[in-house]
Parts: sequence; structure tokens; C-alpha cells
Amino acid sequence: MPYLIRGGDNAIVREFARACAENGLVVPMATVSLFFHPVFRDGAFTANDPEVRAYALQKTMRAMDLGAELGAKIFVLWGGREGVETDACRRADEAVKRLRHAVNYLCEYNIDQKYGFKFALEAKPNEPRGDIYMATTGHYLGFIPTLDHPEIVGVNPEVAHEQMAGLNSMHGVAQAWEAGKLFHIDLNDQMPGRFDQDLRFGSANFKSSFWLVKFLEDVGYDGPRHFDAHAYRTEDYCGVKDFARGCMRTYLILKEKAACWNRDKEIHAILQEIAGGGNGSFQAGPYSKQSATQLLAHVFDKDAISKKRLPYERLDQLTVDLLAGLR
Ligand code: MG
Repeated sequence: MPYLIRGGDNAIVREFARACAENGLVVPMATVSLFFHPVFRDGAFTANDPEVRAYALQKTMRAMDLGAELGAKIFVLWGGREGVETDACRRADEAVKRLRHAVNYLCEYNIDQKYGFKFALEAKPNEPRGDIYMATTGHYLGFIPTLDHPEIVGVNPEVAHEQMAGLNSMHGVAQAWEAGKLFHIDLNDQMPGRFDQDLRFGSANFKSSFWLVKFLEDVGYDGPRHFDAHAYRTEDYCGVKDFARGCMRTYLILKEKAACWNRDKEIHAILQEIAGGGNGSFQAGPYSKQSATQLLAHVFDKDAISKKRLPYERLDQLTVDLLAGLR
């Protein structure tokens, strides 16, 4: 499946993508490069030079024109150069205002042209800038409600980008999903403390990849599963195909493992054991003056509550056994 159109003025990209479309292959996502040319060395939408900011908008609008022509419905924006090496160059809140102006402008263009795009904003903590303003998916989830058209703007969490920040990437994906903002996802892998590696999905952190796949499958995520990764640079053409197959194969393996996990009787018994409190345990329901009075009057038996078993070691080992093919 041809997946990514990054450009806007690239005749080869247009010709290739059009040929794919004519053969019934789907182009679900388009994006734009606002990070390669030196004109963006100080940023694109957040650059100090207003002419650079205007050019970044123009380039993005042309990429939207191309994406719409080819039927894409998701438009990913990764602000790779929207950051700093020194905070002397601008106030960080001014950068947020400039970014807001740009996304609002593009939303209006999308509506005017009746393209029907949904924008998916992709975060990254650093590289190729020393610090990037929108460092994590959570930063964007806080930014989106401040836009003029938040209903057409969501996020594109990338596994490795969240891991570069030392975060649990599945947690960011889950928050985006819960907020109705998981419009797209970039699957890959990353070792801690390294440059942005874009490793084959599941090749470095197998268990955390499992939890991510399990989450996506459990909640019924039906958006694109995009592998934003690349083969080892030691590979030849066949090796690149091995890499691509590997990404998909690992996802499907973990999807099957998630189904096994969900129907495992011993795991299920532990889940029942750890769910909630004992019979008749006190719970805080919706707030009311009466419920608040009852809550304040209640005497909690902390020692008794603390005696409840939490067999997470056993639960995690069962998960490891299952992933290792022993269950
Ligand atoms: Mg990406």
C-alpha cells in the first residue's frame, strides 16, 4: 500500500501515487516536508522570519492539494524544525502562538477547499533541533483544544518519539484514543538513549510493543497502522523487503498473542482478582452534597485494604511466558 506522500511540488511523487491510485491502491495519508530545505533551518511555522512562515503554509497547502487529488483523508504534520538550540532566539509562548496561527490557517483552507482532511500532529522531543516545542503527544493534546477547529485536528503518536523522551508510548496513545484524537499512528521501535533509530516494529522492545498492539486491538482502533521505520543500513533490496514484511509480521504475531492473552484462563482469574475492591467496599460515586458528606464521614480501614493481594509479578510472568510461546 503506498502510504505517504511527502512533498507538494514533486512530479515524480505525483506520478507514482497517481499510478498506484489507478491500480486501486489506497493513499490514506499525505504529509509535507518542512524540515529538509535550509530555508527551514530556524523553523517553518514558528520561524522568526514571517516570509519563511508564509512559505511553509504555501508548501503545506500545495501538499494538501496533491493529497486531496489522490484521495488522502489524513494529513500528518510533523514539526521537525519547530524548536531551538538556544531559547535566546524567541519566547517559547510566541512559538506556540505562531503554530496555532498556522494550523488554524490550514484548517480554514481545508474547509474552503472541501478537502475533508483530518490533521494528525506528530510530536518529538528533539532531533533535528536541540529541543522541539511540541515534545510529546501530551503537549499536542493540550494544544488542540485551543484551535479554532479542534474537531478536525488530532495526533499521530510515533512510538520511537515517545520512547526518546523516556515515556511509555502506549500511555500517550491511550490518552489520545480516550480523547477521540487518535487519527493516525506511526509504529516503529527505539533503544533508550540513542538517536532517532526508526527500528523495525517490535525489534527492540517486544513486550511494550505487545501492550501497544493489545491496546489498539482491544479498543478497536480502525485507523491506519503506519510503519514509520527503515531497514538497517546494511540491507540490500531484498533486506528492505524483509524489513517491511517483518514490521507487518510482528504486528500480526502480537495481535494473535493479544487474543491469546485475553482468553487465557489463569490470566483472566488474576484480572478478576485484582479488579475493584471486596464486596460492599466503599466507593465514591458522582459528586453531590450528600455523597461528599458520606465520603467525609466514612472511616477507611487502611490496614485491611492494604492486605489485598496484587499479584502483578505473576501476571507479568504469564505475559512473558505467553510471548515466549510457552502458553
Ligand atoms: Mg513519524
